Amino acid sequence: MTAQRLDGLAIAQQIKSEVAREVAALAERGIRPGLAAILVGMNPASRVYVNSKVKTCEELGIYSEKHELPETTTTEALLHLIARLNAREEIDGILVQLPLPRHIDTSRVLDAVDPAKDVDGFHPVNVGRLVRNQEALEPCTPAGIIELLERTRIPIEGQRAVVIGRSDIVGKPLALMLLHRHATVTICHSRTPQLAEIARQADILVAAIGRTAMITAEYVKPGAVVIDVGINKVTDRAEVERLFGPDEKRLSELASKGYTLVGDVHPTSVAPIAGYLTPVPGGVGPLTIAMLMKNTVKAARWRRAAVRSATA
Ligand code: NAD
Repeated sequence: MTAQRLDGLAIAQQIKSEVAREVAALAERGIRPGLAAILVGMNPASRVYVNSKVKTCEELGIYSEKHELPETTTTEALLHLIARLNAREEIDGILVQLPLPRHIDTSRVLDAVDPAKDVDGFHPVNVGRLVRNQEALEPCTPAGIIELLERTRIPIEGQRAVVIGRSDIVGKPLALMLLHRHATVTICHSRTPQLAEIARQADILVAAIGRTAMITAEYVKPGAVVIDVGINKVTDRAEVERLFGPDEKRLSELASKGYTLVGDVHPTSVAPIAGYLTPVPGGVGPLTIAMLMKNTVKAARWRRAAVRSATA
């Protein structure tokens, strides 16, 4: 038996088509959702992410603008920009690409975003609403994982879910989302003893760790749903061969780009055991951007309806 591949790319495409239809419907009411993306410094991965978010906005008819600031930008300057974006009617979503340079106070910056425009779902108001299971702008990666599970009709209620990783961006919010859907949730992290033993109890196992191919067959219950959030660059040919065997596609990618992307789950070790598995790339990654688009339209609908009813 080999795990069924969960095609994040196809589901992301579905979500984006729905968003495009909603954008068209809003256009008939004279509304064009708008996203402002802020990029500070020269982090090449961050640049790629921001560019692909802006490009996806264009594809779906969402207005977007990119604010590229130098590495030396101060916290104060960033707060000033956010205040201006908060005040602009045509901007529905504000995205601050993380990580910010070390000298910037990331919490102060994230807390300055108007919660109604917080399309990443990082503001304490949205985090609090998520904890209370109230409607909120929710973080994109975990929200994308929930879409993937629900649209594939994988049951969550009553299932044992183990989330490895407790970050504010992925692990923690995902654990809450699974809990609200009535899974029995365990959160594990770098100081969890007997990790493999706990992971093996999971019907739904999520790896959001940032350690290349750490999750091997010994962590997986036969038939489990395994969601691989990790994105790790592997540059060493011997390691690629160890992970994938003589996989021509991977090796030619390595030769042309100098790296290949590998998740936190060991693909060839886990695939024979798991019931379902998300690939890397093409699993969780594309869903994150699709959910950002969905959040931008949601923010536009909520905020503009509120503005209109306040001014009516
Ligand atoms: P993070 O570094 O903030 O958190 C990693 C978590 O893993 C921590 O909570 C830590 O306790 C835990 N951990 C570390 N080593 C461990 C170990 N040996 N055993 C058990 N737990 C361990 O990372 P993050 O932002 O949550 O991201 C996790 C991974 O997911 C990264 O590879 C990141 O690139 C990727 N990611 C992907 C997407 C996407 O769209 N696919 C989005 C966000 C993050």
